[in-house]
Amino acid sequence: MSIRRTPRGTTALDRLRERYTDVERVCSKCGHVDTDGGWSAKTTGSTVLYRHICPSCGAIETRTLSLK
Ligand SMILES: [Zn+2]
Repeated sequence: MSIRRTPRGTTALDRLRERYTDVERVCSKCGHVDTDGGWSAKTTGSTVLYRHICPSCGAIETRTLSLK
């Protein structure tokens, strides 16, 4: 075997989540920068669903990402 597979489950997902946490923490509604919070990630198998709730105005941001 020449291809090393990433372990299933948390590792890949955590990495993706960290990435999102770094990139988008500014609320598009009120501009609040959420330095403490982050995105919560949930996977349905082939798709990752990200959700972030602004602590300032309560706006909910969602992103979906397809896993390959
Ligand atoms: Zn906001």
